[in-house]
Amino acid sequence: MLPQEVIRAKRDGLRLSDEAIDAFAHGLVDDSWSEGQIAALAMAILLRGMDRHETARLTRAMADSGDRLVWTDLPGPVVDKHSTGGIGDKVSLILAPILAACGCFVPMLSGRGLGHTGGTLDKLDAIPGYRSAAALEQVRRAVREAGCAIVGQTGELAPADRRLYAIRDVTATVESIPLVTASILSKKLAAGPEWLVMDVKVGSGAFMTDYDAARSLAQSIVEVANEAGLPTRALVTDMNMCLGHSAGNALEVMEAVDILRGKRTADRLVELSLALATELLDMAGTGHGRATALAALEGGAAAEHFARMVAALGGPTDLIDRPHAHLPIAPVVRPVRAGERGHVQAMDARALGIAIIHLGGGRRHPGSMIRHDVGLTDLCEVGAPVEADTLLGVVHAGDEAAADRAVADVRMAFSIGPDRPVRQPLIVDRLA
Ligand code: URA
Repeated sequence: MLPQEVIRAKRDGLRLSDEAIDAFAHGLVDDSWSEGQIAALAMAILLRGMDRHETARLTRAMADSGDRLVWTDLPGPVVDKHSTGGIGDKVSLILAPILAACGCFVPMLSGRGLGHTGGTLDKLDAIPGYRSAAALEQVRRAVREAGCAIVGQTGELAPADRRLYAIRDVTATVESIPLVTASILSKKLAAGPEWLVMDVKVGSGAFMTDYDAARSLAQSIVEVANEAGLPTRALVTDMNMCLGHSAGNALEVMEAVDILRGKRTADRLVELSLALATELLDMAGTGHGRATALAALEGGAAAEHFARMVAALGGPTDLIDRPHAHLPIAPVVRPVRAGERGHVQAMDARALGIAIIHLGGGRRHPGSMIRHDVGLTDLCEVGAPVEADTLLGVVHAGDEAAADRAVADVRMAFSIGPDRPVRQPLIVDRLA
C-alpha cells in the first residue's frame, strides 16, 4: 500500500482500513515510510482524527512492532500505573512498593522528563548505584525479590512508537488523542502487565490543561486498552499545583522516602497513591483495598519493599534509613517568601517545572545531562494563608546566579490575594 495513498485518504477525512494502518506501523520500523510521509500522516490524523477502531488497530500494530514481555512466572497479579506527567509527581516511588507489599508484582517501565514535566527515571538516577537501565534478567530478579522494579524500557518495546514519537515531537503533532493513546498503550501492551491504572493529569502543570481534552484522552485509553485485552481504569487528577511539597530529582526521592518512613505528610500525594493502589487491588481481585494499602504504608511494609528494590537494582542497602548520606545536595539553598499577606490563589505549576529546567534539573534538549541535586522544596499549597515572611518554597540551586533567577521565577509562579480560593478536588473524574 503506497504511503501517499494512505496519507491522501486521511487528509480527505476517510477512515483508514486495517491494511493501511498496518502498512503505516510497518513503515515506521522498516524505513519504507520516509520522515516526511510519517509527519504528513501524523498531521492528517491530528487534524482529521481517528475513530476507536482505527486507534485500537494502530495501538496493536505498534505494540506488535517489537518485543512483548511476559511475566507468567510471578506468583501474583502483575499490575502497572502510568501517569501523563506533572510537577512533583513521585507517586510511582510510593505506589509501586505499596502494591508489592499487598502481594502484587510491579514491573514498572518508566520514562524520563518530557517538556516541563519530571520523569521517574531521572529521579531514580539520583540514587547512587541504582541501575535504571538494568538488563531484563536483573529486572526480573528484582521484581521476584522485591515485588517491584522501576526501570527504563528493557528490550526493544514498541520501536514504532519511538520513531513516530520523535517525529511528532518536532512537527507539532503530539496533541492528538488517537496518537497519544496509541503511543502510551503500545508501550504498556508490550511491557505485559495484567492490569493497568492511568493517572491522566489536568491543569497548569499537565500536558493537557483542559478538562474536556483530559477526559477524552482518559476515555480513549480506557476503551482501547480494554478492547486490546488489558483491563484498565483511569483517574483524571488535578495538576494545578505541585504534587507533594518538592519538585526536582533527588529532592523528590527524599520526599518519597520520608513519606514511606512516616516522617512527613503530603496529603494529596498520599491520597492519590492510595486511590491508584485501591483501583489496582480491586481490579486484580486481590480482596484488598484502601485499608490494606494504607496499612502497608503506615506499618513500614512498603518502605521495606522500596529498600529491597533499590538494593536489588544496585543502590545503597540503607537508603531508607540514611537518605541524606547518599542523595546529592545542592550547594546553594534560598528561601522564597510571600512578601505580602493573604491566601495563595493559584500556582503556575508549569512555570515551576520550567524553573527547574533553568536550574539544570530538566532537559533543554533530548539527551542532555541534568543535575540531580537541584529543585524546589517546602512548596506552599493553593489556599494556604500567608504572611509577608511565610515561605512559599525553598530553591536548591547549583550557584548564586541560578538561585537568583529561580527565586524570582518561583515568586512569579504564585499569585496571592485576600480571599481563600475554592480548591479543585484532587480526583476530578474516574473512568472504568
Ligand atoms: N507520553 C507518551 O508516551 N506518548 C505521547 O504521545 C504523549 C505522552
